[in-house]
Order: sequence, then C-alpha cells, then structure tokens
Amino acid sequence: MRQVLSGTIAAHGMALGRARLVQPSRYAVDTRPLEEGEVEGELGLLHEALDTARQELRELRGKLHGALAREVNEFIDAHSLLLDDAELLRGLDDLVRVGRYRSGAALKKQRERLSAVFEAMDDPYLRSRKEDVEQVINRVISALQRQTSPEERKLAARVGEILIADSIAPADMAQLAGYGLLGVVASSGSAYSHSAILARSLGLPMLVGTRDALANIRDDDLILLDAERGETVVHPTAQDLSRYRAWQREAANEGRRLAKLANAPTRTRDGIEIALLANAETSADVALARARGADGVGLYRTEFLFLRKRALPSEDEQFTAYRDLVMGMGGLPVTIRTMDLGADKADAAGLVARGEENPALGVRGVRLSLRHPSVFTTQIRAILRAACYGPMRVLIPMVTQPDELIAVRTLFNLARQELKRENIDLPEKLPMGAMIEVPAAAINVRALLEHCDFLAIGTNDLAQYVLAADRGNDALDNIYNPLQPALLRLLSHVISAGRRARKPVSLCGEIAGDVNFTALLLLLGLHEFSMHPSQILHVRDRLATLDRAHLRRHAAQLLRAHTHEQAEAMLAEIVG
Ligand code: PEP
Ligand code: MG
Repeated sequence: MRQVLSGTIAAHGMALGRARLVQPSRYAVDTRPLEEGEVEGELGLLHEALDTARQELRELRGKLHGALAREVNEFIDAHSLLLDDAELLRGLDDLVRVGRYRSGAALKKQRERLSAVFEAMDDPYLRSRKEDVEQVINRVISALQRQTSPEERKLAARVGEILIADSIAPADMAQLAGYGLLGVVASSGSAYSHSAILARSLGLPMLVGTRDALANIRDDDLILLDAERGETVVHPTAQDLSRYRAWQREAANEGRRLAKLANAPTRTRDGIEIALLANAETSADVALARARGADGVGLYRTEFLFLRKRALPSEDEQFTAYRDLVMGMGGLPVTIRTMDLGADKADAAGLVARGEENPALGVRGVRLSLRHPSVFTTQIRAILRAACYGPMRVLIPMVTQPDELIAVRTLFNLARQELKRENIDLPEKLPMGAMIEVPAAAINVRALLEHCDFLAIGTNDLAQYVLAADRGNDALDNIYNPLQPALLRLLSHVISAGRRARKPVSLCGEIAGDVNFTALLLLLGLHEFSMHPSQILHVRDRLATLDRAHLRRHAAQLLRAHTHEQAEAMLAEIVG
C-alpha cells in the first residue's frame, strides 16, 4: 500500500528504485530451534541465500566502469572470497546441523563471533576486516529475508537501488556510489554533513531525518525518492510515476536553459564581476566544473583520497590525483586543501585517533596533519610536484592560530629542499591560505593574515562551532541557521579584514552554492564563491538579478538584526 514518509532534503533530485536496507542486523531473527526434520530444508535455504549474495556481487562487478570500478572491485573481491571461505561456510553449516539454528540466527551468530575475533586484533588493518565480514554476512541475511511481490520484483529488476539507512558514513557512500546507487534515505543526519556534501557531489538525491524509514520500508520495496518535495513514497502509484516523469522532463529543460549560461560571464545586475569556483572531490566534478564555466577550483577536498582505501595513499598516487586535477582545469587556478581528517571524516587507514570523547573538537584537520609529519610530508611532496603542472594554491583546514601556519610552512620548505636535492622540478611559488572555520581564527583573523596569502571561509564548520550545534544533528535545525546574527557579524569581519589586507577571500561552505544565500553573501562583500559545480549556473543566474551596490548599502542594517528570523525578514525586504 502507498505510504509517504517525510524527510529533510540533503541533495536535490528524484529517483525511482528498489529499497536496499543497510541495517539488516535490525531484522527480527527467528530464534526457535529447528526440529530434526527441518535441518536439510534449512541448509537449502541458507545456501540459496549464499548463492544469491555471490550472484549479486558478480552483477555489481559487471555494472562498474572506470576508476571507481578499480577501487570498488577491491571490496568486491574481498567480499567474494569471504563468501567462499571454507571455515565460514563450515561454521554456518555446523550451527544449523548441530546447533539447530535457523539460517538467520546462524548468520547472526557467526557475524557476532567473527566480529569479536577481528575486534580483538591489534593490527588496524586486520581490525578493519571486521567491517567486511559484517557487510558480507548482512548481504546474505538480507538475501535470506527478501520478500517481495512478483510484479514489484519485475519492475524492481529494471531499476537500481535506493539506500535506506540510519545514517551513512562518507567512506561507505564513496564505496556504494560505484554500485550504481540511485539515492539515499537516512533516518537521521543533516544536510550539512559530509555525507550530504558527498551525495550532492555524486549527484545522488538524498533525504535525511526520515525517522520512520527503517520501520516502514522493507528490502526490495519499490520507492520513489522525491528529494524535491522531501518525501519518500513507498509503493508509488501510477500518478506518482507520472509526476516523476514530469520532473525528469522539467529537469532536462531547465538543464538546457542553464546550459546557455555556461560560457556567460558572471556579473551582478550592476555589472560587478564575481568569481565562481568549484568544490571538487572527483574527476567527474572537475569535468563538470569546466563544463559549467567555473573560474577555477576553490576547494579540492583531498581527504576523500584517504577515505576510499584501507591503506594511506602513496606520494605517487596523490601526485597523480593532484596533477590530473590541475591539468583537468586547463590553466585555471586550483586550490588543494591538505587532508582534513578527523571528526566525521575518520580514515580507513587508522590515522585518526579512535575513542576521542569529542572528535569534532579534537585532533582533526591541520592538528592531525602536524602530529603525523611524515604522512603530511608525503602529501606536501605530492602537492609540490603537481604544482609544476599549472597554477595552484594550497589551503590549510581547521587553523586556530598562527603557529600552525608557521609549522606547515616549515614542512613545505623542508620538502622543497628535499625535492631539490632529488633534482625534482619545483613550482616557483605556491600561495598558502587558511580555512576560516574555527571561531578563534575568524575573530583573530588579522593575525592569520600576516602568515598566509588568502582565506577560504568554511561556513559549514564555522556555523557549527560558533553556534555549538553539530552540523550533522537535525534536532538542532532551529539553531544551525546561516542567518544567525553572530555568524553574519563574523563573516562580515573576516571579509573586511581580507579586503583591508588586500588578500583574496573566498567562501566554500554549502551556502555558497545555495541561491537562497547569494544576496546575503554579496551584501556581506564576498567576491569569490566556491560551490559544487552543479550549482554554478544557478548561482550565475541568480547573481545577474542582484544589484550589489544596493545590497552593500544595507549591510550595516542587516548586521544589526537580533535573531535569524529577523535577519531573514530584513534580507527579504532588502532584496525586494
Ligand atoms: C566547511 O567547513 O565549510 C568546509 C568547506 O569544509 P568541510 O565541509 O569539508 O568541512
Ligand atoms: Mg570544514
């Protein structure tokens, strides 16, 4: 029966697909012991589910292409090997035959046993294998429990999958993207989380805060994910499907209209030129940035190189990625951010300290990099080598005070000397910038400006730290609001300080690409916006309708607002 579940939009779009639950561990498992006569039948069911899981992995492999395929195939190989592991299979058979467990209960038992074994291992790599074992067994459990009507299965077979999860880590999202995933429905989370950013980057529609998703959706249910309205329609009707087709047509038309703007200059209504830069994580982002006429890359988040694999990326691997980025932008400037690991971006290779009580306030970003100078130097060497291939700037995340910039510069200088000794080409200069995302850095920005060449404001984190509201917690939506007066005053302070020091200031948080905030940022004096490339044409379109001089004249008035509601009302009036 049709059912509509509402959620918050984290990445726009629509998708039609079948549901894939990632928490099969939540499924009720039948724990009644088997009768003697049931054992053989149960073993049959178990092996059928194992075969289905093997078949699914083979199909996945067939669907993958390109660079992502190489990375994801690694996971698929590991999972396929586990499914044929003699010990695992013997253990399962014994649980059914001797222990009289039903298949679901046997799989669950085996998952718990193996998880405990891996958990106890000292080696971080071996410990991380626990996730593989869990994922493989969960896949078999879900194959075992799949129930669906034959008609729905027929339609579902022709469409891809929509992930239904409690929450999803960026690393899992990067991995699943290669599986032909169509969209994500999460029961918790917020639109400012890194997973949401990645979903936008991958072009996957995503809803967060769909509280009742896991209780109401079953594996293989047909789902219409409507991340335009903020709804998940379970068992959509013909009427829903026609709405979906209308959206597809409209999206194509809008795409054609905006495409005409791809080569247009970016100017406000009163003729002021604005730079639109791209936030890029993948080569697809780089291609899109070029296609949409970006003025360069304003933020390349290198940590995604660290999240996709279990081992740390080598110097050459990083060099190739950064060089491809610079060359891919064909002479336009690119800004590479050094690794911003920690908080919700835990790496797979075990660099991030586990068990910190407050990871968002812990050893993340430049704090982490400086504690691992040899890992950081590998990245610095790769950046310096790649900087010979085109204009590049380097950006340091989570800066709090000047000594961090000084320490980073020292490491850059040492790496330069090392590379010189090795007769490796070096760029003449490499401008270094500070991310402004810690309140102390924003307040004391003048001190940082003495030690860097440019600033990039990270409003996603700055808002979280100024407002003491976790960017991933949807329960704090009424507080985590970009129009909070305290945040507006800080933004204005940082932008003015940059202008007075004659150093460029860009803003690369999510609000830069949200047309609802374009007028606000112009009013605050911003000239460089960095956003996901899919937003560039929308923002260019919006800028052409705005009069910068008029907005600037009202800046002081807006900065006197007492509440975000008041700021919102004032802004609407100023824009007119
Ligand atoms: C930010 O904090 O605004 C930002 C751009 O960095 P990230 O979202 O990667 O933390
Ligand atoms: Mg940040």
